[in-house]
Amino acid sequence: MATAALQPLSILVVEDERRLREMLSAAFSRLGHAVTAVGDGRSALETTARHEFDVVLLDVALGEGPDGYEVCRILRARRETVPIIMLTARDAEVDAVEGLEAGADDYVTKPFGLLELRSRINAVLRRVRPHANGVVRVAEVELRRGARTVIVRGRPVKLTFSEFELLSRLLSDPGRAFNRQQLLRAIWGDSAYRDPRAIDVHIRHLRAKIEERPEEPRLIVTVPGVGYRFREP
Ligand code: CA
Repeated sequence: MATAALQPLSILVVEDERRLREMLSAAFSRLGHAVTAVGDGRSALETTARHEFDVVLLDVALGEGPDGYEVCRILRARRETVPIIMLTARDAEVDAVEGLEAGADDYVTKPFGLLELRSRINAVLRRVRPHANGVVRVAEVELRRGARTVIVRGRPVKLTFSEFELLSRLLSDPGRAFNRQQLLRAIWGDSAYRDPRAIDVHIRHLRAKIEERPEEPRLIVTVPGVGYRFREP
């Protein structure tokens, strides 16, 4: 297939509406990607236990069995770091935030265009596929960009895609205060305007993973009226 994407991905589509599921499968297959499509949460959990995917597109409302939030929470509890993009209903802001709370990296609101979804996926993958091999060490945190690993106080810590990008940006300039828009851009590039509250959710998750006492953060400091900074080295 001459028009295949340069880097074929393995994509898991979890959607109970048959037509949407088939539409997404067909569209991404045409682009040269390997698509696995399932119609309920239980199948999603089984499939992800057996196969590795580059990205998961996860609908919230899945009919019988676990819904999208539960699937997301279970995947994160299993320490799966695969990028997860939730498909949420229109005008459901609560849905979107709940998805992020559950550990999703991003969401698109239905009805969405394929172009929007593709740009979201590309934004994720541009960063997941390593291009730089830097190692950054600040305080008790060591971040290896190439290997996408983070070591805190001598122990490896598993971060999601968004958490990793956020930490990487903060560590790129320790002591500098970043506002939420800058941090959003660090995760998603300029592809879209995003919800700034997403940053607060990701920061909370990040603190829970890297701070000794997340309720009294010493590494990632809140800068009132601005956003966040990483402590000076
Ligand atoms: Ca659905």
